Amino acid sequence: MRETMMMLRVKNEALFATRVSSTAKRTTTTTTEVKKRRFSASSSAFGKRVKEDNDDASHWNHRLERVLEHKLKQPEPTSSMESCAIDPNKKTVVVLGSGWGAISFIKALDKKVAEDMFNVVVVSPRNYFLYTPLLPGVATGAIESRSIVESIRRPIAEKGFKYYEAAATGVDAQKKTVSFTNRYLTSATATKWLPNVGGGDGERGKHKSQHFEINYDYLVVAVGAIPNTFGVPGVEQHCLFFKEVAHAAQFRSQVNARFERAALPSMSVAQIEDLLRFVVIGAGPTGVELAAELYDLVYNDVAKTFPKRLLKHVSINIIDLQDRLLSTYDRDIQNYATDFFQKANINCILNTQVKEVKQCVLTVADKNTGEEKELPFGMAVWCSGIKMNPVCEKVMESLPEGSQPSKRALLADKAMRVKGSNGSIYGIGDCVTLEPKAYPATAQVAKQEGYYLAERFNKAAETRNYEVLDDPNTEFVYKHRGSLAYIGKDAAVADIPGVTILKGIMAGLFWKSFETVSQVSVGNSFKVGFDMLRTRIFGRDISRLM
Ligand code: FAD
Ligand code: MG
Repeated sequence: MRETMMMLRVKNEALFATRVSSTAKRTTTTTTEVKKRRFSASSSAFGKRVKEDNDDASHWNHRLERVLEHKLKQPEPTSSMESCAIDPNKKTVVVLGSGWGAISFIKALDKKVAEDMFNVVVVSPRNYFLYTPLLPGVATGAIESRSIVESIRRPIAEKGFKYYEAAATGVDAQKKTVSFTNRYLTSATATKWLPNVGGGDGERGKHKSQHFEINYDYLVVAVGAIPNTFGVPGVEQHCLFFKEVAHAAQFRSQVNARFERAALPSMSVAQIEDLLRFVVIGAGPTGVELAAELYDLVYNDVAKTFPKRLLKHVSINIIDLQDRLLSTYDRDIQNYATDFFQKANINCILNTQVKEVKQCVLTVADKNTGEEKELPFGMAVWCSGIKMNPVCEKVMESLPEGSQPSKRALLADKAMRVKGSNGSIYGIGDCVTLEPKAYPATAQVAKQEGYYLAERFNKAAETRNYEVLDDPNTEFVYKHRGSLAYIGKDAAVADIPGVTILKGIMAGLFWKSFETVSQVSVGNSFKVGFDMLRTRIFGRDISRLM
């Protein structure tokens, strides 16, 4: 029944499309002819023809306007023409997201999957993949943002899949539908970390934001996680988050603006110190790498180009609840990194909990004594933890009661089938916890999960058997390849399991080579390699463009 309805809709839409496109074609040719003829119209016969053509054109214009007007007035949600053009003989896989999990899944799917067995539809508010490990480099201009993003359109076009730039707003696991919008309707936190989706109600309300639904047979949820403020008051108002390209751009611009202002002749020492007091909250790999990149920017590039007197007023601080930096890494690495930062004069404020953020001042408490004090800051970045994407709550709400006991992430079995979904919903990456073994929220895990799931779908396509997906004996096994973090001054720390622990410049070289070759496309590897070389030879570009 659903398929027949869909076919009908496809037919109607196709008819509409033919009509609109032929109308539009006719209109443009007639208008060009009219223009041409206007120049040479000297005889009255010609003049008469021109008038007829004009009438004809305005008639068609009028019809076109009416058709479009009618189309825009249709009640929401509407299905777009293309989303309905789904082959009813194949099962539909809807993929939510374009991050680590989703891109690995999409890239590893065989072309055959779309040819024979599945309609693959990818929907994400971000039409590109972002290589997050190098985002701290982008924040200081060591790497350019375009070097670490890859358009999602490229693999989509190569494999014959479909892509829509929109965000999922609801999931009905019983009816197997997902609803989407190209306008954000998510929580305040989400609007702060998500990039804005094009469209909205722009151009004086002519193009209303679009809402549509897609039916699925299999849903792959790869929506990642969002920053967690742990309910600390004032974080959203007074801190930057650090997850998207927009955040890195904001960081780069703010840091530059602060140095330019500090260099003004009328600034007092106290004002300069206020401006140049940077605080990173969270000493996991992201916070550590961001503080390290900032250190490099200040002591390599700002030092050479800004008045030397500013340097002694710069203070870089990193705050964490644990007693060492990189607390999830090997103890040896934790000690080395903490020591390295302290020697570099990066102020490590450890065993410390942030209680509240007010304009330019943090209230912090000592973890052991509970004693509270105030720390002034100029610029603060919140790099402390993640929480569930709100869209996962929608998935949970539509699943049978009791199937999703945790409120922190979607719970799935060892083959990534979300509990309670009867094998119709899969979760990959940061948004899912696997049972019985949970893995950390890293790109490495998301990537391997994406590959694993793609293999299952490839196998189903190869054997022309959907039941392969329900195989109870299949299991995802994570292989930890190691942990890396850049700590500044060309040094890094690397923990390669079963091989060695590397620290210092050698590890730094390893980190640079690894991040260069690990890009998702050869083009990006070239761009990143070139950026690293450019930064080494010419330094970072510290002009403020925005
Ligand atoms: P993401 O990569 O976050 O992708 C989520 C996708 O879902 C995005 O495309 C998003 O636009 C989309 N989305 C969001 N909401 C919706 C919606 N409602 N509907 C549809 N789509 C939606 N890990 C490492 O292993 N090594 C590192 O060195 C490392 N460095 C990092 C540095 C930084 C600065 C950050 C922020 C993270 C880093 N990580 C690193 C962690 C790593 O990026 C994440 O674990 C990884 O991105 C998780 O992949 P994912 O596919 O689950 O989610
Ligand atoms: Mg990293």
